[in-house]
Amino acid sequence: MALRCGTCGLPTLHQIPQPLAGLYFHIPFCHRACTYCDFHFSTSLRTKGPVLAAMRKELEARVGELEGASLGSVYFGGGTPGMLSPGELGGLLADVRRLAPVQPDAEITLEANPEDVSAASLDAWQRLGINRVSLGIQSFRDDRLRWMNRSHDAARSHRSIGLVSAAGLRTWTIDLIYGLPGMGLAEWEEQLAIALGHGMPHLSAYCLTVETRTALHHQVAAGRVHLPADGEQAAQFGHLIARMEASGLVQYEISNFGKEGHFAVHNTNYWRGVPYLGIGPAAHSFNGVRRRWNVANNVRYADAVEKGACHWEEETLTPVQQLNERLFTGLRTMWGVGLAELGDRFLQDNAKAIGRYLALDELQVRDGRLMLTPKGRHFADRIASDLFATDDDR
Ligand code: SF4
Repeated sequence: MALRCGTCGLPTLHQIPQPLAGLYFHIPFCHRACTYCDFHFSTSLRTKGPVLAAMRKELEARVGELEGASLGSVYFGGGTPGMLSPGELGGLLADVRRLAPVQPDAEITLEANPEDVSAASLDAWQRLGINRVSLGIQSFRDDRLRWMNRSHDAARSHRSIGLVSAAGLRTWTIDLIYGLPGMGLAEWEEQLAIALGHGMPHLSAYCLTVETRTALHHQVAAGRVHLPADGEQAAQFGHLIARMEASGLVQYEISNFGKEGHFAVHNTNYWRGVPYLGIGPAAHSFNGVRRRWNVANNVRYADAVEKGACHWEEETLTPVQQLNERLFTGLRTMWGVGLAELGDRFLQDNAKAIGRYLALDELQVRDGRLMLTPKGRHFADRIASDLFATDDDR
């Protein structure tokens, strides 16, 4: 029986920081600003030297937060980490191996764009121990890529996939975007068919969203761009699920599909609530209880790290917030959330709402876990937030 907190009644497991198991590096540089992107990045490389030096210093200062745990994954995200030279990537990885135990079979992922992929770069990345490459393809159509302001064209997409798939990596993946202005099912099917034709073992597919402070936001606000109606985007999502399942790629997270043995270790750990340490401007860290996010500004980040000053904000999640976090990320995965993790009190408080979703065939209980049904995957975020506990309830 799970021990429970005397104050809130939730399983105490949620209050015990677990050892960190994943390491994330945020590389905040890109060739260009994509129309839709609100991640933290700079298209100027002016701060690259100081930022990378600061990242190595931050890792050294914070490696104790790993509490000696072996790393099961290292992830270079961004931004565009594939822009870094092998020497720069190797410097970071050498520090990781010097400072922390890395499991022999650790997944080491590099996000790269097609323009950064060549036989030479792939060879160099593999020599560094990188065993998974995530390619930002987004579309196989030149008109779409131009509209997105991507740096590559369709020919480059195909060439880079050919090189990556033949490189002998442990695995690889591509990103695609659907729900584009004017996109219909026929175009989306064409994109998926091309991707499947390349034999990809894993796909991350995202519906285009309009984030503030992006060029897309201005275009939509000015009425120059119109997104497809919700129904069309939902139809494209439904087609994606059916097409991937028919092709042997399991939807193990709402936006992620993989063949058995090719699920992303780093991301899966994140969705399952395993703690991680994030290094670099705008990087987030989570130890099961406390969330920290670094300043999203390259100059301020590098200066603060150099001076040993604070370069982050953080919050400590209440037990209820921890539970909601677990629910939100867990429900998005095929594993759902264990009923024991949710606890009797949550299940009692939400009995009516859970019963309603069970009756609607949007939630199901299997093997002691609460999870979405195929129908419920269309409404993951709404269902999770509907079930959220509040501190007032406790
Ligand atoms: S390359 Fe990636 S991180 Fe950079 S602007 Fe484009 S979408 Fe954003």
